[in-house]
Amino acid sequence: MRYRLRRPFRLRSWKGLPHVVLDVDRLRAIPVSEAEFACLELCDGSVDFDLPAVGADLRQAAADLMRRGLIEACEPGEGLAPEQALRRYPNRYVRQLHWSVTNRCNYRCRHCLMSADATGSEPSLEDVAAIADQIFACGIPAVALTGGEPLVRRDFPAILELLSRRGILISTISTNGSLVTEGLLDALEELGQRPDFVVSFDGVGHHDWLRGVPGAEAAAERAIRLLAGRDLRVTATMTLHAGNADAVVETALALASWGARELDVSDMCDEGRWLDGEDGSTERTASAGRTLSISELAEALIAAIPAYFEAGIAAGGLPLERLRLGPLLIARASRPEALIIPAERSGSEPDRFPLMRRERLEPYLSADGRLMPSMVLAGTEFAKGLRNLPYPSIWETPLQECLTDSPFLRSVGVTAEDYLRANPACAACPHVRRCLGGSRVNAILVDPAHPLAPDPIVCELFREGWIDRARAAATAAARLMEETA
Ligand code: SF4
Repeated sequence: MRYRLRRPFRLRSWKGLPHVVLDVDRLRAIPVSEAEFACLELCDGSVDFDLPAVGADLRQAAADLMRRGLIEACEPGEGLAPEQALRRYPNRYVRQLHWSVTNRCNYRCRHCLMSADATGSEPSLEDVAAIADQIFACGIPAVALTGGEPLVRRDFPAILELLSRRGILISTISTNGSLVTEGLLDALEELGQRPDFVVSFDGVGHHDWLRGVPGAEAAAERAIRLLAGRDLRVTATMTLHAGNADAVVETALALASWGARELDVSDMCDEGRWLDGEDGSTERTASAGRTLSISELAEALIAAIPAYFEAGIAAGGLPLERLRLGPLLIARASRPEALIIPAERSGSEPDRFPLMRRERLEPYLSADGRLMPSMVLAGTEFAKGLRNLPYPSIWETPLQECLTDSPFLRSVGVTAEDYLRANPACAACPHVRRCLGGSRVNAILVDPAHPLAPDPIVCELFREGWIDRARAAATAAARLMEETA
């Protein structure tokens, strides 16, 4: 009997994660035992496991791997695709890299973190290829492309091609939608890429104002319908401010009718152009464009919960596959009763739990080649204090070095234990196990000099009872939905 690793699995070994089967389609690293890994090295179709030289332990490991669906029987000569074969990397594993391939944009959104416009900088195609080589050398399986607006690059199809040629999955393209065309989607299909699309959409009747472009709302709708028509997954993102805070449910319903699968609502970040005083500073002092206070944000999000579930009751199911209401709630159509509070930790996490696990697994690379925990930290205001932070340029410190043993890696490796040691007041707080200091990225954004400070947003949400109120509203709404089903 011969075996081979099933497609799309790849056999991989990284520092700290030495025995892994990588499921490229789901971006999942499946850990296997050392014995299973040794067996998998023989599962390339070349070894007959019935030969007496193959020990009972290897046969047992093969049986276990068959049961787990990781390998399949094959005939002589039916080997692996080249990318499936074992590769070892000296660096830590990164699941996907969020990458700004440009700082340019065809819009002038009032809240753009990077104050992007038509004149922003971007790496040349040659530099893009060099970065793609670095990504490949680290075994990073996927990139999520963003900007600026990535589609303003005339050579965007060439970027797609050079990534695909290196076997790098394009997991997501973030866009304002205005430049999404059938031609782009054809090009992706030809390359065998089916990325998810993240389309910014800041509310029915509100989008044009925030985006600074008449017709932006119609363009986003057109793009979402086009993408959904090609069965590509669309997540819309909505940034909440005083002017659109009551439009969440109406927007969710409109997006669902256009074919979007998810809506991710987040609060306004006081960064970039929102603070620069360009385009609308006078309006920002009025109610229409003001940043919401934390209590206003919580009130607006909690008010949306019953209305959204009532729409679900009327329609026989929640309108979107997934609705995220900032830090307060994730509601899923597949399991409306299984509510998730994003700001809340499980409460059972050990003290060694890495607080920036997601940021370590999915860091962000800016257009000028700086490796950072999150795109939120790429704001123009924040960048002024950047030189004191361990966010290296990969043109000076190669990506592999950044991901092997570096100040960057240590900065995203902070644990709950580190946090509690630095914050004795939090250690004594009744919410500490559920909160663990909130988001490290929020805290860094507020005060780059104190990356271990409490996150003021999540702190207030816990201490003022907003988290519990969100849970109560969602539980009641989900129960009503269940009862009327
Ligand atoms: S709620 Fe505030 S004080 Fe309590 S653990 Fe969280 S950050 Fe610390």
